Amino acid sequence: MSGTEWAVEKEGETLAKKTLIIGGGIAGITAAQKIAQNGGAALLIEKEGHLGGNFAQLTYTFPVLADAKGIVAREIKTAQELGGIEILLQTTLESCSGEAGNFTVELRTPSGRRTEQVAAIVVAAGFHYMEPTAYTEYAYGRSAKVVTSLEFERMAAEGRLPQGQVRVVFVHCVGSRDKAKGYRYCSKICCSYSAKHAIMLKQANPEAKAYVFYIDIRALGKGYEEFIREAMEKYNVRYIRGRVAKVIESGDKLLVRAEDSLIGNPVEVEADLVVLASAMEPPQGSRDLAGILGIATDEYGFFREAEANVRPCHSSKEGVFLAGSCTQPMEIAAAVGMGGLAASEALILSR
Ligand SMILES: Cc1cc2nc3c(=O)[nH]c(=O)nc-3n(C[C@H](O)[C@H](O)[C@H](O)COP(=O)(O)OP(=O)(O)OC[C@H]3O[C@@H](n4cnc5c(N)ncnc54)[C@H](O)[C@@H]3O)c2cc1C
Ligand code: SF4
Repeated sequence: MSGTEWAVEKEGETLAKKTLIIGGGIAGITAAQKIAQNGGAALLIEKEGHLGGNFAQLTYTFPVLADAKGIVAREIKTAQELGGIEILLQTTLESCSGEAGNFTVELRTPSGRRTEQVAAIVVAAGFHYMEPTAYTEYAYGRSAKVVTSLEFERMAAEGRLPQGQVRVVFVHCVGSRDKAKGYRYCSKICCSYSAKHAIMLKQANPEAKAYVFYIDIRALGKGYEEFIREAMEKYNVRYIRGRVAKVIESGDKLLVRAEDSLIGNPVEVEADLVVLASAMEPPQGSRDLAGILGIATDEYGFFREAEANVRPCHSSKEGVFLAGSCTQPMEIAAAVGMGGLAASEALILSR
């Protein structure tokens, strides 16, 4: 069957209704795959000109340092080759009316407007990575030697990690757990990906020294705690407990000032590069999208689950489901899990 024939025959029954999936990151791709593999039809829209979302910007993934770009390419290829998935890039949702089992959606595509009937909608709009411009004390935006963790991923992908006897400082909780200037919530995975970055640095440049400033370590997931221990014990990454107060430009170096809260002494590290683990925030335009769909967001702008414990992929509106990091910061495995769950709910409405 081609990707545009939507009446799918399966053991004598016809599943004629599509599911609209908004967002072509790993959560949306997974939802589309699962719908197609179970005989349904998916219309996957992505606002950018390519699929993969934030995952496609990563180099390796914790906790096993798997090849991120290779995995994303494989999953996109699987989705493209499965019958039953139509992919529209540079496409957004303009309006939505109707009810569960029978929505009318209007899309803005590069070739004009397009109207579709869909049985269910999966919102998989992902997260936005916070630009830490409010943190002027960290010299972000002033010094090219202060970068975010996402910029560090790009540096690694392009083979631009610093070489020789350099010192690199990783700063946790920038914009997270900070009621004053950022978000009150914990971004959940930056303890783990900062350890990944320190290991990537040491693998690319064994002469480098890596320092991590942390408040406390949060690494809840299979193998995550062990992964951080490996950074400390196998790669000699130095973990210092304390919130960084200031990053000062000093000639061609940076001075990182903090208080070591375990021993109560001020500490200063001279660095060649500072990497800020910034907050994962709601996707841009999430409140507008929620308005079009008639679903609720939380106080931050993440999409609100109807019942977080047992119905985590149900939005506040019947027939509209949620998948991935548009609900809260999460790792790839959790986004994949939610994508599959949302697909199974959407398929029920397609029958
Ligand atoms: C620096 C960094 C390192 C990380 N390292 C790891 C790691 O090692 N291991 C790990 O498990 N996780 C890691 N993560 C987390 C990982 O990136 C996420 O778990 C994953 O990207 C979530 O996938 P998603 O599909 O939910 O969202 P996203 O990847 O954000 O994808 C969402 C997609 O939806 C699209 N979209 C948004 N709004 C709309 C709209 N209105 N209409 C159409 N399309 C829309 C976006 O353009 C995007 O393509 C890291 C994150 C960061 C920031
Ligand atoms: S996961 Fe770690 S670094 Fe990220 S906000 Fe939570 S405690 Fe801070």
